[in-house]
Amino acid sequence: MAERQADILIVGGGLAGASCAEALREAGFDGSVLLVGREPSAPYERPPCSKDLLRGESTAEEALLHPHDWYAENDVELLTRTSVMKLDADAKIATLSTKETVGFDRALLATGANVRRLRVDGGDLEGIHYLRAPGNSASIRRDAEEAERIVLVGGSYIACEVAASLTTMGKRCTLVMQEEAPLSTGFGAAAGEYFGTLLGEHGIECVTADPLARFEGDGRVQRVVTESGRELDADLVVLGTGAIPDVMLARGAGLELGETGGVRCSQTLETSAPGIWCAGDPCEYESVVHGRRLRVEHFEVAAAQGRYSASAMLGETEPYSEVPYFWSDLADWCTLEYIGPAERWDREVVRGSFESGEFTIFYLEGGRVVAGLTVGRSDDLEHAKRLLVAKTDLGERADALADEDADLAAL
Ligand SMILES: Cc1cc2nc3c(=O)[nH]c(=O)nc-3n(C[C@H](O)[C@H](O)[C@H](O)COP(=O)(O)OP(=O)(O)OC[C@H]3O[C@@H](n4cnc5c(N)ncnc54)[C@H](O)[C@@H]3O)c2cc1C
Repeated sequence: MAERQADILIVGGGLAGASCAEALREAGFDGSVLLVGREPSAPYERPPCSKDLLRGESTAEEALLHPHDWYAENDVELLTRTSVMKLDADAKIATLSTKETVGFDRALLATGANVRRLRVDGGDLEGIHYLRAPGNSASIRRDAEEAERIVLVGGSYIACEVAASLTTMGKRCTLVMQEEAPLSTGFGAAAGEYFGTLLGEHGIECVTADPLARFEGDGRVQRVVTESGRELDADLVVLGTGAIPDVMLARGAGLELGETGGVRCSQTLETSAPGIWCAGDPCEYESVVHGRRLRVEHFEVAAAQGRYSASAMLGETEPYSEVPYFWSDLADWCTLEYIGPAERWDREVVRGSFESGEFTIFYLEGGRVVAGLTVGRSDDLEHAKRLLVAKTDLGERADALADEDADLAAL
């Protein structure tokens, strides 16, 4: 017997968990909802950590998803600084870090992800940072005040966003990456070249196709050394080397895990344990839109899956069918938006032009749109999304995607 009971237990006080709680109340659910989060803060948005919060243009308070009163007003019991340590999926009992046991009727695993830490020589020197939470953002900002030379490790959006933010704060930034160009892994070579040029124009040096080898310094980092032997002076380093879904609790509970390292879920985001759903970064679900298993770590997806899982807990049986949407800001230089994700593609069609700074890349596989990336042409993305969902084989009509006179709605 558990010491206490909750109708719905939400594990993880992040975006997915908070969105689920909100959607439950919006749907009129009047049972008890317990939201358990490991972090000291109430649920907040992470994106500002590499953007306005890092630049000192907003506060951690402003990043909160709901004001503090919201939880009591909506009868959602929020436990912060508390972890769910153990989950008995058959008995439906969770054990908290306070040793208290909580029985539940339905549960959501919204445990998010943790930064991927690199094991390299010198990795424990002072001045080397990872970024996931407002506390990390504040430490980077503090260290940056004194720093002359900053090296960002990684070619993905976090390293690029942080480089852009710190550059606008007057710092000299160098990106070190294994990719041929920044952001090229997900968006391809042409987009990578565009973003590399944009960062370069703002004074950011990109060291490409040259992975990190080690850090050097005496107590504090002084140099970044790459595999080719290049040495870069650095008094501050930020690693943007990806995230690993947090499946510790799920694994311990014996839930099935997927091939992407996430929690294996059905089309309705239910895990292998009936009555337990998963949403957000760890959710690897059967996507009816893509016809394959999918796991993405995007803000809008965590929110949408949190909301959807609330409806699934209340009886929704239609599969989750949102098209994943991602956005990223490189300071105020550019906002990119993306729908997909494409596993592979055999053709890129560009609408608009890189020179004008307003373009959309349609990614096609066998004549079908499988993803879209835009800078400054959000409307195009709606068409990309429609075509992706409809799985329309455009054949030769794909050329029209590049023709500014062609009406995309007619495709
Ligand atoms: C710096 C940064 C910038 C980003 N910018 C963008 C962006 O511009 N665009 C975009 O689309 N996405 C962005 N993202 C990604 C996006 O923020 C994440 O995909 C999203 O926050 C995931 O939400 P989540 O609820 O799944 O996980 P999280 O936000 O990680 O929340 C999970 C919570 O669960 C807690 N937890 C884990 N295990 C337990 C347990 N056993 N018991 C209790 N609590 C537990 C964790 O401590 C955490 O607080 C960014 C991410 C970062 C780090």
